[in-house]
Amino acid sequence: MTAAEADWTEAVRLLSSHDDVTLVCHVGPDGDALGSMLALGIALRDKGVAVRASWGSRPFEVPAAYAALPGLDLLVEAAEVPAAPALLVTFDTGSVDRLGVLADRVGTADAVLVIDHHTTNTRFGTVNLVDERAAATAVIVVELLDRMGLPLTAEIAAPVYTGLITDTGSFKYAATTPSVHELAARLLATGIRHDVISRDIWDTAPFAYVGLLGSVCSRAELDSDAVNGLGLVWSTVTAEDLQLHGLALSDVEGVIDVLRTSREAEVAAVLKTDPEDGLIKVSIRSKGQIDVGALCSSLGGGGHRFAAGFTSADPCEVTVSRLREALATAPHLPA
Ligand code: AMP
Ligand code: MN
Ligand code: MN
Repeated sequence: MTAAEADWTEAVRLLSSHDDVTLVCHVGPDGDALGSMLALGIALRDKGVAVRASWGSRPFEVPAAYAALPGLDLLVEAAEVPAAPALLVTFDTGSVDRLGVLADRVGTADAVLVIDHHTTNTRFGTVNLVDERAAATAVIVVELLDRMGLPLTAEIAAPVYTGLITDTGSFKYAATTPSVHELAARLLATGIRHDVISRDIWDTAPFAYVGLLGSVCSRAELDSDAVNGLGLVWSTVTAEDLQLHGLALSDVEGVIDVLRTSREAEVAAVLKTDPEDGLIKVSIRSKGQIDVGALCSSLGGGGHRFAAGFTSADPCEVTVSRLREALATAPHLPA
């Protein structure tokens, strides 16, 4: 479902009638969550609005891949987010629980604008700008800026480009439409250093990551019988791995991209233990035959058709068997 014309009108009206706006994105922000939030934040600040942006998980540290983005000075720690914001805007967040410790602000804010593209979005805003067909939340933000008549400056284009390449895997995934490339052309025309942005996201990691990847990949398991014979490849990133290699959870986002290269498996999963809360954050990808978004919803999480996740309080073995069970009965998508 794309957003209705009435939702766009309401969204523009909300943003045009507030001179103080609070922005929040999902916990453990990725390039689209952070990028879409910073892009709107910069645009609003440029027009004189008082803006702050945050997310509700720890550590409150910008992942290294995004540390050179413009607009980071808009960020405030979760504790500094007003108790009852006049206007709260959420980015790339499919459900209230994905706001972590800031989830309560959805109830205390006077108005809530939800900007998102998750198929599992629960429409928890007073206005919901949800377009499941958008390749990234950042795409929706650009349409919003256009409708508000705000300029797409190079400062805004950089975080938008970050969201776009994060969620399309650098224009490789099925969500990459002609309009995605047209938007990319518009962004590049502002003069952004897309080469540096891409290198920071895809081609830069601490040397310790190579070591961690070695351990994680060497214990990866291929279960050819899983998913009704379509195959599952999975591995774990333990709290000990992170500690041993001196890495944060945000440093290991790319592990799933290595595992999912396995030709023999339709589905790939990485079970990452969050050292902050001890919970297992499960990342799942499929190659097109299994709707892992729906699957993760049934396990308490959410996401998109071919990229999704859930959080588990169970030990690793229990989590894997719950996942296997759900995968065994998951309906296959038409080819
Ligand atoms: P990730 O594997 O963390 O890159 O996440 C893949 C997709 O699934 C993203 O769109 C996330 O927003 C979504 N996702 C991951 N974990 C969860 C969760 N616990 N609940 C809902 N959505 C999730
Ligand atoms: Mn995201
Ligand atoms: Mn996204």
